[in-house]
Amino acid sequence: MRQVIIAGNWKMYKTAGEARRLVEDLKPLVGATQVEIVVCPPFTALAAAVNAASGTNISVGAQDLFWEDEGPYTGEVSGPMLKDLGCRFCIIGHSERRQYFGETDASVRKKVQAAFRSDLIPIVCVGETLAEREDGKTLEVCRRQVEEGLGGLTPEKIARLVVAYEPVWAIGTGKTATPQDAQEVIGFIRELLGKMYGKDPAQRCRIQYGGSVKPENIASFMEQPDIDGALVGGASLDPISFAAIVNTA
Ligand code: PGA
Repeated sequence: MRQVIIAGNWKMYKTAGEARRLVEDLKPLVGATQVEIVVCPPFTALAAAVNAASGTNISVGAQDLFWEDEGPYTGEVSGPMLKDLGCRFCIIGHSERRQYFGETDASVRKKVQAAFRSDLIPIVCVGETLAEREDGKTLEVCRRQVEEGLGGLTPEKIARLVVAYEPVWAIGTGKTATPQDAQEVIGFIRELLGKMYGKDPAQRCRIQYGGSVKPENIASFMEQPDIDGALVGGASLDPISFAAIVNTA
């Protein structure tokens, strides 16, 4: 019942020209899939990516937004600006933003609401650090991130949004959670959303795994009952690898 969704997080890679080329290269490789495909370039390459993806099955998302719609916030970019550019999605609360840019569960919550105000679908990232995992705090941390970051919404919004479970220690390291461990946490998140908003919206909410996803390991994650796709970093920068992930999912 849930459409598989594979999203590429390009992080701080690719100029506008490079983004255009990457989308152009990707297009013929993923034309036949039923999977929902999203690419998330840096702000400066969003227009080029939207333009190159126009009329295809590839959607474009941003990697962050600010929680106000406009105002004296030097350097920030708002939901209405992203929507106007042609974005459909927005990553919120990525662990790199939590680690380097002071993102908190409280700011995630405001940004999720801002994304919905502008009709953008949030891809909300949660996940534990290595120290938290070793302390046995994985579920506790994810519970806090979901309760605080995704509080105050409606069941309809929960059904639309995407959650990405990304263990921080698996991002860009070549280490992945085992599919069973990822399923345990993702199943826990779905159950928690069910308690917060009801079973039906929780069943409709798509939950991705992220962290060193590659063409070689995507199938093992997709076999798990609660995993609906992946948020892909490094491997999304190469059209052949990203297309192989999409076409295997
Ligand atoms: P990775 O990044 O696939 O390079 O581990 C994932 C992410 O940061 O979303």
